[in-house]
Amino acid sequence: MSGKTILKLAKVQDSPVKGRSVVMRVDYNVPIDKGIISDDTRIKASLKTLKFLLDLKCKVILISHLGRPKDNEPKYSLKPVATYLQGLVGANVHFAADCIGKDAKKIVEQAKQGEIVLLENLRFHSEEKKNDDNFAKQLSEYGDFFVQEAFGTLHRAHASTAGISKYLDNAIGYLVQKELEYLDKSMINPARPFVAIIGGAKVSDKIDVLYSLVDKVDTLIIGGAMAYTFLAAQYSNVGKSLVEKDKIEDAKKIILKAFKNDVELLLPADHIVVKEIKFDSPKEVTQSMAIGDNWIGVDVGPRTEMLFIEKIKMARTVFWNGPLGIFETDAFAHGSIAIAKAMAAATKSGTITILGGGDTLSVIKKANISQEQLSHCSTGGGASLEFIEGKNLPGLVALSQN
Ligand code: AMP
Repeated sequence: MSGKTILKLAKVQDSPVKGRSVVMRVDYNVPIDKGIISDDTRIKASLKTLKFLLDLKCKVILISHLGRPKDNEPKYSLKPVATYLQGLVGANVHFAADCIGKDAKKIVEQAKQGEIVLLENLRFHSEEKKNDDNFAKQLSEYGDFFVQEAFGTLHRAHASTAGISKYLDNAIGYLVQKELEYLDKSMINPARPFVAIIGGAKVSDKIDVLYSLVDKVDTLIIGGAMAYTFLAAQYSNVGKSLVEKDKIEDAKKIILKAFKNDVELLLPADHIVVKEIKFDSPKEVTQSMAIGDNWIGVDVGPRTEMLFIEKIKMARTVFWNGPLGIFETDAFAHGSIAIAKAMAAATKSGTITILGGGDTLSVIKKANISQEQLSHCSTGGGASLEFIEGKNLPGLVALSQN
């Protein structure tokens, strides 16, 4: 979906929502351990729209999924979120223990304007993921307006993300607007130089985004385990590092495309290597981009760090998705943390910095950098990548067709 189409979507602040019953799709897929929410970023991200609607005396019916439950597994209940939300917004938050059925209907009916109802995990019903029309209709009947605020699920055609839109007048919330605004900023007419840093483990997950970025950026930096497939494509020795052999041909095509497009494609120039992936394994730094036969690359080396940081310093727009090493292990997190710090410093001097993906956000946390120190941290890694790939996001297409 192009930026132009997005402009056609109604925004919540321009919509006739005052005093209405608004069904709002949020992404409260948050980590919960024994009832304790360990990361509330996604809940907080919905507050601006939520408060806006409550101020307008709307009754807000919140719908969300949580995790990938096989059945009604209690550990995937959204109940702890209802209690938590009440503490954050100060308005009454009612919880319905099933997202459809008589009881849920009654709770919604009895809730007053200016109050919230949070419905139980949508994925406790298999109809949600099947985009079942009847299920979508039942969800729509709780209100007379629909607000889409779950950016992280827009790339999925489910009942609550796509199916529901045709039954209600609708608009996008503030969070979805901000996400799209920053993605547009980077993809359409970005301030240049535009640098993209793509890391993480699986080339196969990010191959399409690499093909797309190589048409848009000035510099494409590839780090993390993905880099070894690209190094293998250039016949460099990568030892026992993670390589996706069936993606080597794609890597070659991307390298060629970068060359044709006059895009600078940077791979690690040195690596931190170990013989065994254990936190206390003796580490070595390679002298070049080649890795010895029995060694495994686990992080970028110090020369690479310096090179990548220089590129970030010179950029006016930077997009980053995916860690540059096995950052979960402190001993292999140096490269990713150095990039996170460079991103925060660049933001301070006016560069637009955009981050996506759960692991990349974890790196930021590990580097003690707050999300406010970057221009935009996307709440949806998968959705932001698909947007960049130029794919239609079913959740947005459904809204615009209403
Ligand atoms: P992704 O989900 O594709 O963004 O991949 C994130 C994962 O990539 C993280 O769990 C990292 O530990 C992993 N990763 C990054 N660099 C490496 C590496 N050199 N070897 C193995 N895994 C890596």
